[in-house]
Amino acid sequence: MIKRSRSEESGYRRPIPTNCVLWEYPWWATGRGKRAVLAALEPEWEARFEPNSYGFRPGRSAHDAIKAIHGAISQKPKWALDADISKCFDQIDRPALLAKLKTSPRLRRCIKGWLEAGVMDGEELFPTTAGTPQGGVISPLLANIALHGLETVISEKFPRRRGWNPPKVVRYADDFVILHEERAVIEQSREIVTEWLKGMGLELKESKTRITHTLETTEGEAGFEFLGFKIRQYPAGRYNSDRNGHKQPVGCVTRIEPSPKAVKRHTEKLRETVKRHRAEKAAKVIEALNPQIAGWSNYYKYVCHHAVFHKLGTVLFAMLYAWAKRRHPRKSKGWIVRKYWRVSSGWRFQSLRSGVQLRRHGETHYQCYVKVAGARSPYDGDWLYWSTRLGYHPKVPPRVASLLKRQQGKCRECSLRFREGDVWEVDHLIPRQRGGTSGLHNLQLLHRHCHDIKTAREIERFERRV
Ligand SMILES: [Zn+2]
Repeated sequence: MIKRSRSEESGYRRPIPTNCVLWEYPWWATGRGKRAVLAALEPEWEARFEPNSYGFRPGRSAHDAIKAIHGAISQKPKWALDADISKCFDQIDRPALLAKLKTSPRLRRCIKGWLEAGVMDGEELFPTTAGTPQGGVISPLLANIALHGLETVISEKFPRRRGWNPPKVVRYADDFVILHEERAVIEQSREIVTEWLKGMGLELKESKTRITHTLETTEGEAGFEFLGFKIRQYPAGRYNSDRNGHKQPVGCVTRIEPSPKAVKRHTEKLRETVKRHRAEKAAKVIEALNPQIAGWSNYYKYVCHHAVFHKLGTVLFAMLYAWAKRRHPRKSKGWIVRKYWRVSSGWRFQSLRSGVQLRRHGETHYQCYVKVAGARSPYDGDWLYWSTRLGYHPKVPPRVASLLKRQQGKCRECSLRFREGDVWEVDHLIPRQRGGTSGLHNLQLLHRHCHDIKTAREIERFERRV
């Protein structure tokens, strides 16, 4: 049992377990030590990581990985190796990992300490619970380092030839797919990967690794699941088919949807929430459900989700109707609906007393996702790209960064993209003189010369009116 001391709350010193022989944890074993090492290692490795590795890296997400797969298959159906690496940090060949790190002796000692002291023993390779790394900030980076080189080893074995493209590797943490139009190439890649992983003491999990085709049915199923998405293609006639760069139909359509397993998990969670709140008021149920619905539908807003969202609406209605019926067993259907649903424009579950309404999955609309470009990383110093993409950057004033994101990196006056070296100014839509505020909604970013043009025009218009 560890007693929480006041100093622990301030984060200054860690409490000492009673059975610990040390007087105090060494600094590097603390969360703070790990973050310090992360700050030292990450920029260096970010510059080296492969373009198609997307997991647990700054400025990259699962959506980028999915978009990369979409780009690889949309022109031509492909064979896919859907692979999974046996997890567990203790399987990693530690000397090999330390040799790969090639870091300073001090950091090396630290990391060696963690690996040997069993801080990460038995932990999963990429400890992912609900999308964020648990158990230490450093282990995802170390695992990414361990798996760095997978893409390169494949591209070296299959060099690009005229009229023939090498297989495409898309990796998200320890989950990866290899895509190519020939099955033989995929089978060969599987052997190469198995051999390469041995060098790190890792292996493919046989039960979760399979070869499949995105369009044709193999082993009773077409397509594959990746990061909670189901990716597959359907044959299509010339009018429905996806088109290639020359606007010619390719003979199939690509559908990326929430995977059935993910939908089931989400439904179970909703059901559990409703069940847990069976004795609470409607407002409480809505408060508990809304964040779950918002989070889930936001994750899937970039893919083809309409049918799934619609079905979830129906399922949720059934759950809530049962919840209401349980509270009012003797009341009629009409009475219950009048009490808990607003039916004027689409059915909405609501609490009459507090006025809060339940969010619907279908409220979240489809949005186009722009994939992160190539091998870019937030450490590459391209502050214009990153502040436009993310809306923040340490080198750019917050106000300018959010304006850049909102304007998609373009000047509102001349519609040209801002480029490095351009001089820009923040302009007030309604001038301060005439009562305009400095809130973001009243601001825009303009080139300095565009700002001059705009101001001159406005003054002229103003004088003419006076
Ligand atoms: Zn301009």
